[in-house]
Amino acid sequence: MIQLKNVLPHHLYLRCRCNHSRMVAVIELVEAYGENITLDQVRKNAKCTACKRKGGIEMRLVYVGGSEFAMRGSNTKERE
Ligand SMILES: [Zn+2]
Repeated sequence: MIQLKNVLPHHLYLRCRCNHSRMVAVIELVEAYGENITLDQVRKNAKCTACKRKGGIEMRLVYVGGSEFAMRGSNTKERE
């Protein structure tokens, strides 16, 4: 079980079955849900902002190097 606080420098890439995808900074999720949130819990609660479906969302940890803070708050729209 992966705790998000252990992968803070990463982003989470989320992709729904409807093809909608977005990137979220792990640190944002920890700030929102607390430091004990796990990857499994995020997966269960993740809801697509496009089709509103919950579950069935593919998740991948992505390391974006030193730009993670620069990317915070942006880049949450569709990426193709
Ligand atoms: Zn969707």
